[in-house]
Amino acid sequence: MRNTHVVIVGAGIIGAALAYHLSQRTRIAVTVLERDIPGAGASGHSFAWANAFGKDPREYHALNRRSLDMWYRLAHQLDTDIGIHYGGEMRWENSPERAAQLRQRIRQLQTWGYPCRIITRDEMLALEPHLCPGTTLAASLSEADIHVETDKFIDVCLRHASESGAVVHPRTTVSALVIRNSRVAAVKTTDAEFPCDVVVLASGVQTTELASLADTYIPQQRSPGIVIKTTPCGEVLHHIAVIHAPPTDENHQHLHLRQLVDGSLRIGQGTQEGINRDASQQHADALLARAKAYLPAIADAEAIPTPVGYRPMPLDGFPVLGFTEVVQNLYIALMHSGVTLAPLVGEMATLEIADGARVDWFAPYRPERFG
Ligand SMILES: Cc1cc2nc3c(=O)[nH]c(=O)nc-3n(C[C@H](O)[C@H](O)[C@H](O)COP(=O)(O)OP(=O)(O)OC[C@H]3O[C@@H](n4cnc5c(N)ncnc54)[C@H](O)[C@@H]3O)c2cc1C
Repeated sequence: MRNTHVVIVGAGIIGAALAYHLSQRTRIAVTVLERDIPGAGASGHSFAWANAFGKDPREYHALNRRSLDMWYRLAHQLDTDIGIHYGGEMRWENSPERAAQLRQRIRQLQTWGYPCRIITRDEMLALEPHLCPGTTLAASLSEADIHVETDKFIDVCLRHASESGAVVHPRTTVSALVIRNSRVAAVKTTDAEFPCDVVVLASGVQTTELASLADTYIPQQRSPGIVIKTTPCGEVLHHIAVIHAPPTDENHQHLHLRQLVDGSLRIGQGTQEGINRDASQQHADALLARAKAYLPAIADAEAIPTPVGYRPMPLDGFPVLGFTEVVQNLYIALMHSGVTLAPLVGEMATLEIADGARVDWFAPYRPERFG
């Protein structure tokens, strides 16, 4: 007796998490419309480090921390391989200024109750014996951090949702919203119309354009980034999920690196929000060469360049979550750090959509803040 029809536009990590949670409600019928294949947007280009390490201010840190902790329960509920790698994040610094900043950040995070600590070089090497860290003036371990294989997670969520009655339409582009009496009555694609009671825009960078069809202003910044892939190599990271290595010289940025179950690596540079548009083989080779200096055991790996990924990035950097004021049954779910936030957003947005709750944690992130 499913009598509330929710249409989700976008099958990235956020749309998939929502489809899973909403489809567990017996009175809700879920349809997912995806213009490409699931995971083709930012989720497929992500570095996929779930963390609250660099998240400020404290309220936003707490939101990310809650979600990070929820990954464990969600993995248990899904009870299938979703490519979670536990073991935490390890980083180190090789300049006095950055070492001091790292010690200060760890002190700050510990004050906020984040499970992280300064470790010695010997502890680093005990955790990851293949590492050649070079000069190490400070090092830290953030034990709760994980990384996730987003394609596996999206696939499992959509499979569970389908088993509970959800219908997923890949290669189906939403082109218009039929609005009557300040509500979306139907979602139009190029060749069909889907009547609905609620529409969720989990459409990543396209959310701005789709929201404008309902006279709703959701501004974004342009935030291109690159995470390269490598060919598979033997297991080089035995314990740690994510590594952040310092620049090898002042012309370079920090390097971040993780290893997947199939042995391939994902490598990016700069911060989690760093801008990068260089999708060339030359850039991919240079990034891998720097990684090899820290991990000689990956000497045989070859770099595979990947296209630029565009982060969904609201103008002020914070998530946009909730029903809009103008069109009352239009729900926005737009955010950077969507890999970290997917468990929390999937579960809490379901409370708002299915039960009519207004979750306090989302109060700073409502769509109307943009006017
Ligand atoms: C380089 C890079 C590194 C990142 N690193 C991290 C990280 O380490 N940790 C972290 O937490 N986050 C990270 N992020 C951010 C994170 O990946 C995103 O926040 C997250 O993937 C957003 O998921 P989403 O489902 O909202 O969007 P998307 O994955 O972009 O999904 C939106 C979907 O909507 C579909 N769509 C769009 N328009 C339409 C339409 N008209 N009709 C139908 N379908 C449509 C798209 O095809 C797409 O599949 C990174 C992102 C990038 C690009």
